[in-house]
Amino acid sequence: MNQTMTQNEDDQTEATESLLDQLQTSSAVDVERPHQVYCNRDLNLSKIEAVGFDMDYTLAQYHQEAIDALSVEKTLERLVSKRHYPEKILEIEPRPEFAIRGLVLDTEQGNIFKIDSHRHVGKVYHGFRELSQDERHEYRQRTIRFNQDRYVLIDTLFGLPEAFLYAALVDFLETHESHRDHDWRQVYDDIRYCIDLAHRDDSIKDEILADPESYVTRDSNLALTLHKLRSSGKSLFLLTNSFARYTDQIMSYLLDDMLSEYTSWRDYFDIAITGAGKPAFFTEQSAFLEVDTTGTVRDEDVDEFESGVIYQGGNLMDLERMAGFGGDEVLFIGDHIYGDIVRSKKSSAWRTAMIVQEMERELRQVRELHGEMMHIEELDREIERLNEELAYDQDLAYKIDEILEHRENGPETSDLENYDLDQLEATREKIAHSQQEMRQRRHELLESLRETEKSFETNFNPYWGLIFRQENENTIFGEQVEDYACVYTSRVSNFLNYSPAHYFRAPRQPMPHERF
Ligand code: IMP
Ligand code: MG
Repeated sequence: MNQTMTQNEDDQTEATESLLDQLQTSSAVDVERPHQVYCNRDLNLSKIEAVGFDMDYTLAQYHQEAIDALSVEKTLERLVSKRHYPEKILEIEPRPEFAIRGLVLDTEQGNIFKIDSHRHVGKVYHGFRELSQDERHEYRQRTIRFNQDRYVLIDTLFGLPEAFLYAALVDFLETHESHRDHDWRQVYDDIRYCIDLAHRDDSIKDEILADPESYVTRDSNLALTLHKLRSSGKSLFLLTNSFARYTDQIMSYLLDDMLSEYTSWRDYFDIAITGAGKPAFFTEQSAFLEVDTTGTVRDEDVDEFESGVIYQGGNLMDLERMAGFGGDEVLFIGDHIYGDIVRSKKSSAWRTAMIVQEMERELRQVRELHGEMMHIEELDREIERLNEELAYDQDLAYKIDEILEHRENGPETSDLENYDLDQLEATREKIAHSQQEMRQRRHELLESLRETEKSFETNFNPYWGLIFRQENENTIFGEQVEDYACVYTSRVSNFLNYSPAHYFRAPRQPMPHERF
């Protein structure tokens, strides 16, 4: 009797949990696509005890055009003053749409290309000139490996100006100094050195701090999102590579005065770590230091965290030990595929959420271009149907040819007299005719598909198309997001649309042999 009651209670609990799950899941259906959180691996927020946040491009979203133009300007200045490039390069105009995440720089050839998850090279530019199929031939012969020095993958939004400048300098040098051979590796190294310097000497940061409205988006839902997570009992921590002075001012700009319950940005976080040095933070053993808002060290001997204090440096092991949380009860939200997502996933059991700010615009465009997308799918289906018909006819034609051939080579098959050979010949001719028509039709459809795809992609980015797609494949960037980010979304405040106990469920992807 007792056992039956327990069984019933268990069943009821299970049914109620499942109902609640469904209700929680369905409440998110109304969220418009650019603001949804997308799930690669199941993530139950009710099991998350602590949520960590990267700052730049995660909590702080930048106006991409403005910050790119600023980085380009500061880097060009340093190329002239530190690397003796001609002053004329200061006239180079930024092209905001030229660079996207996932591009690869070939530092040997001066080329930039897009690549899919199977390492097949798609579009290639030399400077701002797109290479033809023939000129891209070399890349069809080789596998692109990133452990070779030759290829550089642009995997952060801070890296976009680097890709633009590489194309711009190739273009500039071939136009203005066409008489000499160029060492593209040296050009790349010069750009890397100068952009790194512009970050490290604070010239980029000082301009941003002097005029944050022009560079940083103030999202009024951010404070509410953090508040909602805190109110559900989760600890929040900040883990940024930016140092204390910059972090303090940017976080103040984003959060101070947003909600009356919080007087300072620091009140939202249980732990604030700056100058974290990710990805090394996850693998090495640097000590935590206590610093003030100018970055001056106040204490070199940190053995517990205090709220309201700013820390610098540190490492994963000490963080988990002193904070009292760790493993898969931590959700870390970042934008850098390697520094924030891949490295944390490989070194810890932390769950990961990736911020892909480009998605918001892309998903809006997808909605606007829905008609064109459907047309592409229709063309794809029609081509596939024609291919099947052609293959069927080909097979039939082959069998008829075999029979007719026997007649010509002598009557070896006694069955021959059973057939009306004239009728077979007439059918064979009909097939040949219909095949010709189908091939012609397929040719026209393929042309139309190519044109439609091209205009579709140009609408997203005139140079490269979509960031997640290359023809029918994921790009390398898309593959990394899929492999390493448990969930991904365009901005942190999208989590406001979901309960802090929401169960994100990944769509079950059947393997090809499981599809019926
Ligand atoms: P996070 O995204 O909050 O971890 O911070 C990224 C930090 O790295 C920012 O302070 C950037 O200015 C800085 N940063 C980005 N690219 C470079 C670089 O090439 N050299 C040095 N610092 C960089
Ligand atoms: Mg970041």
